[in-house]
This record gives sequence, structure tokens and C-alpha cells, in this order.
Amino acid sequence: MSSNKAQFISTATGEKYPVNEPRWLSNDGNLLDLQFEAEFDLEKIKNRKPNLWRYREAIPIVNNEHIISFDEGFTPLLPIDFNGKQALIKQEQNFSTGSYKDRGATVLLSLVKELGIREVIQDSSGNAGCAIAAYAAKAGINCAIYLPADTAEPKIAQMRMYGAKIMRVPGNREVTANAAFKAASHTFYASHCYNPYFYQGTKTFAYEVCEQLGWKAPDAVVVPAGNGTLLIGCFIGFNDLLKAGIISKMPKIIAIQAGNCSPLYQAYIKGENIVEPVASGPTLAEGIAIAAPVRGNQMLKMVEATKGKFFAVNEQEIKESLLYCGKKGYYIEPTSAATIAGLQKYLKESDDETVVSLFSGHGLKSTDKILKILG
Ligand SMILES: *Cc1c(COP(=O)(O)O)cnc(C)c1O
Repeated sequence: MSSNKAQFISTATGEKYPVNEPRWLSNDGNLLDLQFEAEFDLEKIKNRKPNLWRYREAIPIVNNEHIISFDEGFTPLLPIDFNGKQALIKQEQNFSTGSYKDRGATVLLSLVKELGIREVIQDSSGNAGCAIAAYAAKAGINCAIYLPADTAEPKIAQMRMYGAKIMRVPGNREVTANAAFKAASHTFYASHCYNPYFYQGTKTFAYEVCEQLGWKAPDAVVVPAGNGTLLIGCFIGFNDLLKAGIISKMPKIIAIQAGNCSPLYQAYIKGENIVEPVASGPTLAEGIAIAAPVRGNQMLKMVEATKGKFFAVNEQEIKESLLYCGKKGYYIEPTSAATIAGLQKYLKESDDETVVSLFSGHGLKSTDKILKILG
């Protein structure tokens, strides 16, 4: 049970707010972070079940009875060879809803339970919606998901199976987000982009990696960069361990974007610290095609603080990585293959490093797309 107190803090003004009332922005409309000191008891952790709640003292849910969990996490970390160079790959496609978004959903829906909220809304074109819907179902909480017109049907099927109310918005992602903002004025907004509790779940990726390496940090971690749910989680998680004195350095964060939709990469190569929205083209990596990431500036700062870098990958590279993984026995989403394509680029310039990356989502989510790729 955690005793120290979490607080929301405005990223613009430092103004603080209590976490026991529903909130997703500061009073003047700025993004919120969470101020919370994670604690680790390595002996206790070792003796707990192999799931992400083993880091109990580092997760800001007050009462154990509010935890909504499928015993998720502690995914295998497998060595895989990429054309003569090795990386360690977290098997994040193995989660119950088929992507690592379950890490964020278990913590966010536990907060919802803790606040006694009976109904949530969310907007997502895919895996975040699936994860929020599944954990809402487990908690017995009503859930409505706002979706843009072009959302992949298999993912909608999954959300419907979990009993979520599907709100199809005629229009693109932005129009959908606006519809969700309106609904959020009277219902709890379980947003994977805005709500800092989601990152309090995804940060456990970093904890697991370090524990699996014998409580050591890797040299580099190669992660996807769309809205940054994992990237930001990684930064928070490794930083928690560094502050607690458990690891002695931050790994470099290597962030991967699809070339056809790469606002962060564009800002990075121009040396800018403000991310401007970009025009985007179609990409196999639909899950990370975010033209105007709400936490873009924050992501840029985090990558630079670790002396990491950004890569953009093209459609051919994504396709080749997808097929390469399949041949090795790993069935992943095309979106996940973008990260692996970036990993392969990074490995070419890295020597004698411990490099960690991940398979972010399961191939069964994208049968239709994969059939097209196979021809
Ligand atoms: C969410 C997700 C990502 C990363 O996306 P962000 O927008 O950066 O959070 C990557 N792959 C898959 C399969 C995902 O579901």
C-alpha cells in the first residue's frame, strides 16, 4: 500500500491539484503531470507474483481493493538476432487485449474505481480503446469509446465484445477528439494522452526491463513515438529507478516514427524544441500516425535529456521488418514492425550495447492488413 501522496501538477505553471477529484487539464487548460515519489522494496518485489503490480509501492493507487487487474505484465524479454546483431525484445503483444496499452489501463481504471466513478469515455482509433474497454468491463464500469470513421473493424469488434458503447464520429481523429472533449465536460475522460495515471502504468515497462537485467539499466531502449504512451512511461520509469538509486544511469531513448507521419522527427532534425503538426500520408503503422501529438514537446525534451535520438522509417522498411519477424515466429501488428524497423537502423550504428525494444501489438489485430501485405 502506498502512503505518500500523489498530486497533479501543471506542466506550464507548476500549480498543483489533488488527485481525488476527476481532472485531466489544469484550470487554465494546460497538460498535467503527476508528482509522486515511487518507492521500491526489492525483497518484497522478488517474492510477489510475476505481474506489474509487484511494484506496488511505486504505483499511486491508495487502496488494494480498488485494483482492476488481469495479472498483466512481466512479459518475457527475449534475445532476437537481427542480421547478426542482437537485441532484447519485450513480448508486449502477449497482453490480454493484445497490446501494452493494458499497462496504462490497469492503473487508470483502478484510479476510476478508487474515485467511485461509474462511467468513462475515451477516444482512440485502436488499442487504447480496446484496453480501456476491457478494464472497464472487468470493473463493471460503463464505457463509451469515440472513434473516427476509418477505425479498423477488428478493433471495433473487440471493443464491442467488451460491452463498450461505440460512438462513431463522422470525420477524422481531430473531429473525434473534439466530440470526446465535449462529452468529457460531464463524464470522466479516461484518456491515454491526457491522464497522467496512464503513464503511471506504462512506466512499469522500464521497471520490468531493469529487473529482468538484474536491476541494471540497458544502454538504449528503442520505442515507438506516436502519442508517446510508452516513450513517456519509459522516461518516468527509468527516472524513478535512477532517483531511488537502483540504477546508475538513464538509458538512451531511441524513438521511432513512421516517415509518412513524423512531426517529432521533423522537429528533431531541424533542432527545434516545439513540435509543429504535420501533413501526413498513409502508413502501415496506423497506430503511431499522430500528426499533432498533445505531449509532443515533452517527448522531444525527454529523448534529448537521455542523449537519445529519433528515426523515421519508410513503408518498405516497415513491411520488411514485419515479414522478418514472422519468419522468426513472431506475429505482430504492422504498427509494431515500424519500431522494429527503427531498431534495425539503430543496431547498425550501435556496438557492444545492451539494446532493448518491444513487440507492441499482436498480429491477430490486423489480419486484414497483413493479408494485403502478403498478397
Ligand atoms: C499505442 C501503440 C504504439 C505506440 O503509440 P503511442 O501513440 O506512441 O502511444 C505502438 N504500437 C502499438 C501496437 C500500439 O498500440
